[in-house]
Amino acid sequence: MEKRPTALILGAGIMGLCTAWSLLREGFSVRIVDQAPPPNPRGSSVDHHRLIRHAYGAQPGYMRMVDEAYAAWDELWADLGEVLHIQTGVLALDEANGEWLRASRDALRAENRPLEDLSAAQVAQRFPYISGEGIANAFFCPQGGVLLAERIVTALAQHVVAQGAVIEIARASALDAERATLTLEDGSTRSADVLVVAAGPWIPRLLPAIGRRVTASRQVLVRLAPPPETAEAWSCAPMVLDLAGGFYLVPPVAGTPLKIGDHSFSLQGDPDDPDRTPDLHEADRILDLARRRIPGLDRFTHLGAATCFYEVEPRERFVVERLSKRGWVMSGFSGHGFKFGAVLGQRLARAITQPEASHGVTAWAAGDEMISA
Ligand SMILES: Cc1cc2nc3c(=O)[nH]c(=O)nc-3n(C[C@H](O)[C@H](O)[C@H](O)COP(=O)(O)OP(=O)(O)OC[C@H]3O[C@@H](n4cnc5c(N)ncnc54)[C@H](O)[C@@H]3O)c2cc1C
Repeated sequence: MEKRPTALILGAGIMGLCTAWSLLREGFSVRIVDQAPPPNPRGSSVDHHRLIRHAYGAQPGYMRMVDEAYAAWDELWADLGEVLHIQTGVLALDEANGEWLRASRDALRAENRPLEDLSAAQVAQRFPYISGEGIANAFFCPQGGVLLAERIVTALAQHVVAQGAVIEIARASALDAERATLTLEDGSTRSADVLVVAAGPWIPRLLPAIGRRVTASRQVLVRLAPPPETAEAWSCAPMVLDLAGGFYLVPPVAGTPLKIGDHSFSLQGDPDDPDRTPDLHEADRILDLARRRIPGLDRFTHLGAATCFYEVEPRERFVVERLSKRGWVMSGFSGHGFKFGAVLGQRLARAITQPEASHGVTAWAAGDEMISA
């Protein structure tokens, strides 16, 4: 009987798990190593939700990738037997004619994607829980929504194990990409035909060369429950991208809290720091960003603040690259990678199984261009 090819994946976050899912479908025998059982709440992938949207500023490569991302998620939902995405639409607004909104609108219009321009009065009328004050520029896209991240990671980990993958709980202390080998902290080694390193914000420890290109970045988010009189309206709200305030808001869908965060990078912090608790001042800073836009924010119930880590590439471009003939790395997701987890896993698996297809995957993942399916 022909021997199955083997893959060793470091990291059971969304990237490692989606690559495992795709390689299993290609007939690989898969071992995943992670320092914690999935869902690891200290990983970048694990929180109630992550957003998926086409609006992408001046990065049309990523805007186009979102179509492929949706198609890949649909394949995953079929395998998982449940859809873990809630469509909410996207409300993007600014108090000036800022570059991000303008570039997003131009790119969306150039490809005839559904998009509605809104005045300040229309925003306030249509979404009465949001203040129109100061809005100079806004649009609504019906496409886009919330990926139920923690539930996805949990279900996907169970699925890959049911398909024969092994998830080993151990911390890797070193790797050898040439030999597709991991050394674990107990000194033992694991090897396979191919190694994929998807270690999220911990990657600089194991791959200093990648660590010179990406920086771990501690980010703070705040979870809230709206007061009873607006709770129902908020549960059907769109995601909000407020460029003037500098915050994003995830509506409370499918039993999750409402969440507010910002996308400005701290470029500081250590993902191994045992104390991840933000101080009150950090939570207040996030709430201050949203106060003008959300009337009565002080009457929302504070459900807690949390920290999570991005690994930031200076131009926010993903790093999906060959480390050697037998090794690959997935990194640089810069706080916008989750939405592409399923399609990145598929594309990397294809690059591994069809070396002739491997050529374009790095540029495609960096948002440069399309490669044909
Ligand atoms: C607050 C926040 C909001 C975000 N919002 C969005 C959003 O709205 N939309 C979007 O698309 N993206 C978003 N992102 C980004 C997205 O979540 C990440 O890009 C994605 O989850 C990265 O997944 P990953 O698998 O690379 O990393 P991780 O989920 O961090 O997985 C890496 C895994 O590797 C393991 N590991 C690392 N080192 C070792 C080692 N030495 N030994 C053993 N195991 C190890 C870790 O334990 C971890 O489980 C957000 C991120 C954060 C933090």
